[in-house]
Amino acid sequence: MRLDGSDESKNIEDRRGSRGGLGGRLGSGMFGRGGGGGGGKKFGLGTIVLILVAMYFGVDPSMLLQMTGSGSPAQYEETSYSQESTATLSDSESKFVAKVLKTTEDAWGKIFRQNGWGTYPEPKLVLYSGSTRSACGLGQAAMGPFYCPADQKVYLDLSFFREMGQRLGAHGDFAQGYVIAHEIGHHVQNRLGVLAQVDKIRSQGNQRQANAISVLSELQADCLAGIWANELQRQGDIIEPGDIEEALNAAAAVGDDRLQKQQQGYVVPDAFTHGTSQQRMTWFQRGLQSGNISQCDTFANAR
Ligand SMILES: [Zn+2]
Repeated sequence: MRLDGSDESKNIEDRRGSRGGLGGRLGSGMFGRGGGGGGGKKFGLGTIVLILVAMYFGVDPSMLLQMTGSGSPAQYEETSYSQESTATLSDSESKFVAKVLKTTEDAWGKIFRQNGWGTYPEPKLVLYSGSTRSACGLGQAAMGPFYCPADQKVYLDLSFFREMGQRLGAHGDFAQGYVIAHEIGHHVQNRLGVLAQVDKIRSQGNQRQANAISVLSELQADCLAGIWANELQRQGDIIEPGDIEEALNAAAAVGDDRLQKQQQGYVVPDAFTHGTSQQRMTWFQRGLQSGNISQCDTFANAR
C-alpha cells in the first residue's frame, strides 16, 4: 500500500501501555469473567488454541464464551485509561493502522452518502497490548482482532499482524489492511442492522444453524472489505502491484478449513464459523470486482 502522504484517522484509541485495571492475572491464561471479580475460569492450552482459531476476525468474544459454557458476557465497570491518546502515535505500526482506518472512513463515508444512509458514524479503533476491556467482555490478544457491536469499537493487538505473517503465512501490508477492513465491515453491518438480525436468528437456532448464520455474516464482512479495496483501486494511487494478492492470501489463510487442518489435521464443516478459504476469497473478490454493496448479500440463498 502506498500511504506515505496519507492522513491518519483521529479515531485511534491507544491503550497500549495501560493496564486496564486487571493486573497480572491476565498473562497466565486466566479468563476473568463474572463482574470482573471472582469466577475466573482456568483454560488449558487446548482451549486457548480453540480461542485463537475461533476468534480470528470474530465479531464478538461473548459468542465464544457461550460456546465454551462460561455463561453470559461479564460486565465490566468503566475504567479510565491514563495513556489513552489520539495525538501521540509515533511508531510506524500504529501510524499505518491510523492511515488504513482513514481510508475506510473515506470509503464508507462516501458510500453512506451515495446510498442516502446519512453520515457514516466512524468507529473507534482500540490499539491494545495483552488485554483490555470492551463492552463485549475482556479483549485478549489471543482472540485476534474483533469488533464489539455494544461499544462500536474495533479491538486490535498489533502482535496479531506479526502472528499472521509468521504462523499463517499472510504477509504484507495489504493483508493487514484487509484485516482492518474486515472488522470495519462488521461495523457497517452493525450500522445497517445486519448484526442485530444475525444475533436474533442465532439465538433461535441450534448450534449448527448458529454457525451457519455466523459464516454468512463473516463472509459478508469479507465482501465489504472487498468494497473498500474497490474504492482504493478507483482512487488509483494507494494500491500497489501485489496488494490484492496479499489480501486474497490472507483471506485464504484465515479460512476455517485451513485453520482447522492446522489444528487437528482434518476439517469439520459443521464447526465452521467464518467460511472456508475459498469462500472467503470469493466474497472478498466479489466486493472488490463489483464495488457494489448489493453484491454482498451473502444471506440471499439462506432466506
Ligand atoms: Zn469477522
